[in-house]
Order: sequence, then structure tokens, then C-alpha cells
Amino acid sequence: MTPASVHLTPGHEAFRSEVRAVLDAHVVPCLAEWERSRCIPRPAWRLLGKHGLLGVGYAPDRDLFHSLVLLEELGRTGYAGFRAAVGVHAYMATHYLAKSGSPFLRARYLAPAVAGEKIAALAVTEPDAGSDLAGLAVSATAAGEHVVLRGVKSMITNGTTADFFVVAARTGVGSAGPAGISLFVVDSASPGVSVRPQETVGWHCADTAEVRFSDVRVPTGNMIGRVGTGFRQLMHGFQLERFVAAALALGGIESCLDATRTHLRTRHVFGGRLSDLQSVRHAMAELFTELAAARHLVHDAAWRLSQDDLPAAECSMAKLYTTELACRVADRCLQLHGANGYLAGSAVARAHAEARAATMAAGPSEVMRDLIAGEMVDLG
Ligand SMILES: Cc1cc2nc3c(=O)[nH]c(=O)nc-3n(C[C@H](O)[C@H](O)[C@H](O)COP(=O)(O)OP(=O)(O)OC[C@H]3O[C@@H](n4cnc5c(N)ncnc54)[C@H](O)[C@@H]3O)c2cc1C
Repeated sequence: MTPASVHLTPGHEAFRSEVRAVLDAHVVPCLAEWERSRCIPRPAWRLLGKHGLLGVGYAPDRDLFHSLVLLEELGRTGYAGFRAAVGVHAYMATHYLAKSGSPFLRARYLAPAVAGEKIAALAVTEPDAGSDLAGLAVSATAAGEHVVLRGVKSMITNGTTADFFVVAARTGVGSAGPAGISLFVVDSASPGVSVRPQETVGWHCADTAEVRFSDVRVPTGNMIGRVGTGFRQLMHGFQLERFVAAALALGGIESCLDATRTHLRTRHVFGGRLSDLQSVRHAMAELFTELAAARHLVHDAAWRLSQDDLPAAECSMAKLYTTELACRVADRCLQLHGANGYLAGSAVARAHAEARAATMAAGPSEVMRDLIAGEMVDLG
């Protein structure tokens, strides 16, 4: 098979086929049920782990383009809740353990997460601090060999099922701003941790929840990296997070366009197929052109990330363009499906509702524009 871009080899495409076979056999048939039950069952996590799909980012024989292929394929399943849950677990939360976790933390949390035995979540956002995370308030107060966590996190993916949270907390209590933030791994079974599901419009199997820490004692050995480095770690990790969000959205766009192409070829109006109408053909031509442009942006961001660069502008561009495009594509595809597209359970209706979340999660579009302008307008 011809690789999907200059950055991919036949080996990456063979990996794509393997991933697609696993997802088609074991995931796609179950997604509607998982969406209804609002979580991914544990055996499914183990199955993904058994097939090596939860540790692609950390496997020595895989590179970032294997991750890109995996993320695109997760996106192509057409359920944003599923792809977000796996993306958070396999990349956004566990990244900090892999990059800065002690050998003890990697053995206790990262290894079982890769195996699908433990489910991971990233707890940064709070009810009063989202984009402006230097304003976060959850506190971690020193108490001998422990810190005591107090406060609330909100909109946490995998929130009720997670076995552990990577939590951003303020260790420099009293000192406002980024300098006092540190990262900790917290067992969800720790006394004082409570979770409350948050009802979202879509992304149901992403299991979104509020997480409350009421005097939770966390061993100081559960700190990731050094004290006060949390903000810097997050700023670094957010480049990966934005790339992941962009690659997942890319797959989602493809699945939406695939479903629409099939519909247009089979739906008959005025004595012909919908796909014969020129205005419809042109609409699809434009969307496929934009998809190709988005793919170039995302694959280029992957290449820059793989060079160990910190490509803030490129990751932000990829995230901004792809997640905004997903909204436009879903909107246009819903229109092209007519009333059938608006029926509950229709893939395009779901894509329409789900696409909106991705322009906010992992940082809103406005923040992406600020970051891009910071490099393109102020520097250079
Ligand atoms: C489905 C979903 C899943 C999520 N999962 C997680 C998770 O697993 N872990 C986690 O920690 N967080 C998670 N989040 C939270 C996400 O990271 C935040 O939504 C995001 O950081 C934005 O914060 P906020 O929603 O509080 O918006 P706010 O910071 O309150 O901003 C509100 C709006 O103001 C505008 N705005 C903000 N900043 C600027 C600016 N600088 N310039 C101009 N306009 C601006 C934007 O329109 C923005 O949408 C999730 C969110 C969603 C929707």
C-alpha cells in the first residue's frame, strides 16, 4: 500500500493494517454499547494492552509515526469518546511518567497502564481554572513523607474508572502563578478521593468526571519530577497533547467523510445519485482538499516532534486547523445526509456534537491562535 504521506513507510502502513484489524474485530462492534454504558469496560483496556496499542508511545521499536498511525485509526472508529479516552490514557497522562517519573513510578503505574491493567487520567482542569492553568488552586501541603491534597478537578476524562490520576497541584501554597505547581500520581482508591460523573453532550464513553481530593495523603515519592517543575512539564507535555488531539481529529474527519461518501453514492434524488450533483461533488472536493491540508499539517508536526524539537506553533496549528475543520466537515456532512443525518444514532449527528468538544479540550482555539501569533507575529 502507498504510504499516506512522505513521513510514513510501508512498515507504518503494515502497522496501520494490524491496528485496524484489532479495532475492527474487538472495538468497533462494541462502541455503541460502550457509549450507552458511558465507559470502556476493563477487559477492553486489557485487550488493547495485550495487542500493544497502549504502549506505542513508549515502545523502543516504535517511533512517533507509529503513534500517528494509531491515533488516526482510533479516530477512524468514529466515536470521539473512545479515541479521547485512549488518547488521554496512552499519551496525555502517562507521558509525564515516561518522561520524568522515577523508576518506582514507572514500574508501579506506567507498566500496568501499558498492559491495560491500570487506567490513567490526567487531572489538570479545575472548575475555576482551565485555559489559565497558572491559576489552579488544588493544593498539595507538605506533611512529612507525604503531601496532603485538597481541592477539585473538573472535566476529567476516564474520571470514574481511572486507577490513578496524574494531578497538577500547587505545592507553593500562597505563591500564585506557575512556579508553585508540581505533578503527582494519586491512586484513585486513596482515602479522600471521590468522583462524580459529569453529563456531557457527547464523548460519553470518555467517562468525564469531577474529582474531589479531601485531605488525600500522597507519598512524596509520588511526585513526578522535581518540586515546582509541574508547569514547565505541562507546557512541554501540551505540545504532545495538541498533536494527539489533532491526529485523533484527523481520523474522525476521515470517518465522517467516508460515511458521507457512501451515503451520497447510494441516495437517489431527482432521478440520479446525490453524488452526481455538481454542487455536492464540489462540496466534497473542498472537504477532501481541506482534509489533505490538515493531514500535511499533522504529519509535519509529528516530524518536528520526532526531532525532539518543541514545535509549539506547529502543534498548535495542527490542533487549531484540524479540530476546527472537524466541526465544518461534520456540519456539511450532516446537511448532505438530510433529515436522516439528524436522527439520534446517526454517525454524522454524533460527529457534529462530538467535534465541538475538541476545539476546547486540550486548549481552546483562541489559545492556539495566541501561541501561533506569539511565534509568527512576535518572533521570526
Ligand atoms: C470533553 C472534554 C474532555 C476534557 N478532558 C480533560 C481531562 O482529561 N483533563 C483535564 O485536565 N482537562 C480536561 N478538559 C478540560 C480542557 O482542558 C479545558 O476545557 C480547556 O483547558 C479550556 O478550559 P475551560 O474549559 O475552563 O475554558 P476557560 O479557560 O474558562 O475559557 C472559556 C473560553 O474562553 C475563551 N478563552 C480562553 N482563553 C482565552 C484567550 N487567551 N484568548 C481569547 N479567548 C480565550 C475560549 O473561547 C474558551 O473556550 C476536557 C474538556 C472537554 C470539553
